[in-house]
Amino acid sequence: AASAAAAAVSRLTRWADDFPVAGVRFADLTPVFAEATGFAAVVDALAEIGPDADVIAGIDARGFLLGGGVANARGCGLLAVRKGGKLPPPVLSREYDLEYGTARLELPADGLDLRGRRVLIIDDVLATGGTLAAAAELVIAAGATVVATAVVLELSFLGGRGKVAEASGMAPLTALLQL
Ligand code: AMP
Repeated sequence: AASAAAAAVSRLTRWADDFPVAGVRFADLTPVFAEATGFAAVVDALAEIGPDADVIAGIDARGFLLGGGVANARGCGLLAVRKGGKLPPPVLSREYDLEYGTARLELPADGLDLRGRRVLIIDDVLATGGTLAAAAELVIAAGATVVATAVVLELSFLGGRGKVAEASGMAPLTALLQL
Protein backbone atom coordinates (compact mmCIF):
# COMPACT_ATOMS: atom_id res chain seq x y z
CA ALA A 1 0.00 0.00 0.00
CA ALA A 2 2.87 2.39 0.79
CA SER A 3 4.35 2.14 -2.72
CA ALA A 4 0.93 2.62 -4.38
CA ALA A 5 0.45 5.71 -2.22
CA ALA A 6 3.89 7.08 -3.08
CA ALA A 7 3.19 6.54 -6.79
CA ALA A 8 -0.16 8.33 -6.59
CA VAL A 9 1.38 11.26 -4.71
CA SER A 10 4.25 11.54 -7.20
CA ARG A 11 1.87 11.46 -10.15
CA LEU A 12 -0.97 13.68 -8.92
CA THR A 13 0.47 16.35 -6.60
CA ARG A 14 -0.11 19.89 -7.83
CA TRP A 15 3.02 21.97 -7.21
CA ALA A 16 2.92 25.76 -6.91
CA ASP A 17 5.96 28.03 -6.74
CA ASP A 18 5.98 31.01 -4.38
CA PHE A 19 2.78 30.08 -2.55
CA PRO A 20 1.59 31.23 -0.05
CA VAL A 21 4.72 33.42 0.09
CA ALA A 22 7.81 33.91 -2.08
CA GLY A 23 10.36 31.11 -1.77
CA VAL A 24 7.91 28.37 -0.74
CA ARG A 25 7.15 25.55 -3.17
CA PHE A 26 3.68 24.40 -2.15
CA ALA A 27 2.54 20.79 -2.52
CA ASP A 28 -1.22 20.71 -3.10
CA LEU A 29 -2.51 17.15 -2.57
CA THR A 30 -6.08 17.98 -3.66
CA PRO A 31 -5.81 15.91 -6.89
CA VAL A 32 -4.43 12.91 -4.96
CA PHE A 33 -7.43 12.81 -2.65
CA ALA A 34 -9.92 13.54 -5.47
CA GLU A 35 -8.87 10.35 -7.28
CA ALA A 36 -10.54 7.23 -5.79
CA THR A 37 -7.39 5.12 -6.14
CA GLY A 38 -5.21 7.92 -4.78
CA PHE A 39 -7.28 8.50 -1.64
CA ALA A 40 -7.65 4.76 -1.00
CA ALA A 41 -3.91 4.14 -1.43
CA VAL A 42 -3.00 6.95 0.96
CA VAL A 43 -5.58 6.04 3.62
CA ASP A 44 -4.75 2.31 3.39
CA ALA A 45 -1.03 3.00 3.81
CA LEU A 46 -1.63 5.27 6.83
CA ALA A 47 -4.00 2.69 8.33
CA GLU A 48 -1.15 0.12 8.35
CA ILE A 49 1.23 2.22 10.43
CA GLY A 50 2.15 0.70 13.77
CA PRO A 51 2.16 0.67 16.76
CA ASP A 52 -1.41 0.27 18.03
CA ALA A 53 -3.27 3.51 18.70
CA ASP A 54 -6.74 4.12 20.06
CA VAL A 55 -7.13 7.67 18.79
CA ILE A 56 -6.22 9.18 15.41
CA ALA A 57 -5.50 12.91 15.62
CA GLY A 58 -5.91 14.85 12.36
CA ILE A 59 -4.47 18.36 12.05
CA ASP A 60 -6.68 21.18 10.71
CA ALA A 61 -7.60 21.08 7.86
CA ARG A 62 -6.08 18.55 5.46
CA GLY A 63 -5.18 16.19 8.30
CA PHE A 64 -8.94 15.94 8.99
CA LEU A 65 -9.54 14.33 5.59
CA LEU A 66 -6.91 11.69 6.20
CA GLY A 67 -7.61 11.20 9.90
CA GLY A 68 -11.29 10.47 9.26
CA GLY A 69 -10.53 7.74 6.75
CA VAL A 70 -7.78 6.21 8.87
CA ALA A 71 -9.78 6.29 12.14
CA ASN A 72 -12.70 4.55 10.45
CA ALA A 73 -10.45 1.93 8.84
CA ARG A 74 -8.68 1.15 12.13
CA GLY A 75 -11.72 1.35 14.41
CA CYS A 76 -10.20 4.27 16.33
CA GLY A 77 -11.59 7.50 17.71
CA LEU A 78 -10.95 10.67 15.69
CA LEU A 79 -9.50 13.77 17.37
CA ALA A 80 -9.65 17.05 15.46
CA VAL A 81 -6.68 19.29 16.34
CA ARG A 82 -8.15 22.70 15.50
CA LYS A 83 -6.64 25.94 14.30
CA GLY A 84 -6.78 28.73 16.90
CA GLY A 85 -10.14 30.39 17.56
CA LYS A 86 -12.39 27.58 16.28
CA LEU A 87 -13.25 25.95 19.61
CA PRO A 88 -15.21 27.42 22.54
CA PRO A 89 -13.18 27.87 25.76
CA PRO A 90 -11.62 26.41 27.78
CA VAL A 91 -8.94 25.16 25.40
CA LEU A 92 -5.38 23.89 25.50
CA SER A 93 -3.38 26.04 23.11
CA ARG A 94 0.06 25.95 21.47
CA GLU A 95 1.49 28.75 19.39
CA TYR A 96 4.17 27.89 16.83
CA ASP A 97 6.25 29.50 14.10
CA LEU A 98 5.44 29.23 10.41
CA GLU A 99 7.68 30.21 7.47
CA TYR A 100 5.99 33.59 7.97
CA GLY A 101 4.49 34.68 11.32
CA THR A 102 2.88 32.41 13.88
CA ALA A 103 -0.15 30.13 14.18
CA ARG A 104 -1.99 28.33 16.97
CA LEU A 105 -3.45 24.86 17.43
CA GLU A 106 -6.03 23.98 20.08
CA LEU A 107 -7.84 21.10 21.79
CA PRO A 108 -10.77 21.21 24.21
CA ALA A 109 -9.53 21.49 27.82
CA ASP A 110 -12.63 19.89 29.31
CA GLY A 111 -15.34 17.41 28.31
CA LEU A 112 -12.72 15.09 26.79
CA ASP A 113 -10.44 12.76 28.73
CA LEU A 114 -7.33 11.91 26.74
CA ARG A 115 -5.29 10.71 29.71
CA GLY A 116 -3.53 7.45 28.92
CA ARG A 117 -4.74 7.40 25.32
CA ARG A 118 -2.38 6.21 22.58
CA VAL A 119 -2.52 8.73 19.76
CA LEU A 120 -1.34 8.57 16.13
CA ILE A 121 -1.09 12.13 14.72
CA ILE A 122 -1.61 12.64 10.98
CA ASP A 123 -1.10 15.57 8.62
CA ASP A 124 -0.73 15.92 4.85
CA VAL A 125 2.69 17.57 4.49
CA LEU A 126 5.68 17.85 6.84
CA ALA A 127 7.64 21.02 6.09
CA THR A 128 9.52 22.75 8.93
CA GLY A 129 7.81 20.53 11.51
CA GLY A 130 6.33 23.33 13.61
CA THR A 131 2.74 22.24 13.05
CA LEU A 132 3.22 18.56 13.85
CA ALA A 133 5.45 19.42 16.83
CA ALA A 134 2.78 21.76 18.25
CA ALA A 135 0.11 19.08 17.79
CA ALA A 136 2.32 16.55 19.61
CA GLU A 137 2.86 18.98 22.49
CA LEU A 138 -0.90 19.54 22.79
CA VAL A 139 -1.69 15.82 22.82
CA ILE A 140 0.96 15.28 25.51
CA ALA A 141 -0.33 18.28 27.52
CA ALA A 142 -3.75 16.60 27.46
CA GLY A 143 -2.23 13.58 29.20
CA ALA A 144 -2.03 11.25 26.20
CA THR A 145 0.96 9.50 24.60
CA VAL A 146 2.01 10.11 20.99
CA VAL A 147 2.72 6.57 19.74
CA ALA A 148 3.50 7.69 16.18
CA THR A 149 3.21 10.53 13.70
CA ALA A 150 2.59 10.25 9.97
CA VAL A 151 2.38 12.42 6.88
CA VAL A 152 1.73 11.76 3.23
CA LEU A 153 4.63 13.89 2.02
CA GLU A 154 7.82 14.92 3.83
CA LEU A 155 9.86 17.81 2.43
CA SER A 156 12.98 16.46 4.09
CA PHE A 157 15.29 19.28 2.98
CA LEU A 158 13.43 21.53 5.43
CA GLY A 159 14.59 19.40 8.37
CA GLY A 160 11.27 19.17 10.22
CA ARG A 161 11.70 15.56 11.30
CA GLY A 162 14.02 16.30 14.24
CA LYS A 163 11.68 18.91 15.69
CA VAL A 164 8.75 16.47 15.57
CA ALA A 165 10.78 13.66 17.14
CA GLU A 166 11.79 15.91 20.03
CA ALA A 167 8.26 17.23 20.65
CA SER A 168 6.62 13.81 20.43
CA GLY A 169 8.94 11.98 22.85
CA MET A 170 10.83 10.38 19.95
CA ALA A 171 7.74 8.74 18.46
CA PRO A 172 8.40 7.16 15.03
CA LEU A 173 7.50 9.40 12.07
CA THR A 174 6.34 7.75 8.84
CA ALA A 175 6.22 9.60 5.50
CA LEU A 176 4.58 7.82 2.57
CA LEU A 177 6.84 9.83 0.23
CA GLN A 178 10.01 11.78 1.03
CA LEU A 179 11.37 14.49 -1.22
P1 AMP B 1 5.29 23.03 8.92
O1 AMP B 1 4.71 23.46 10.23
O2 AMP B 1 6.30 23.98 8.38
O3 AMP B 1 5.80 21.60 8.97
O4 AMP B 1 4.14 23.08 7.86
C1 AMP B 1 3.27 22.06 7.80
C2 AMP B 1 1.86 22.53 7.59
O5 AMP B 1 1.75 23.58 6.65
C3 AMP B 1 1.08 21.40 7.07
O6 AMP B 1 -0.20 21.44 7.67
C4 AMP B 1 1.05 21.62 5.58
O7 AMP B 1 -0.22 21.35 5.09
C5 AMP B 1 1.40 23.08 5.38
N1 AMP B 1 2.58 23.30 4.52
C6 AMP B 1 3.71 23.95 4.84
N2 AMP B 1 4.58 24.02 3.84
C7 AMP B 1 3.98 23.40 2.81
C8 AMP B 1 4.36 23.13 1.46
N3 AMP B 1 5.54 23.52 0.96
N4 AMP B 1 3.50 22.45 0.71
C9 AMP B 1 2.32 22.06 1.20
N5 AMP B 1 1.90 22.27 2.45
C10 AMP B 1 2.72 22.95 3.25
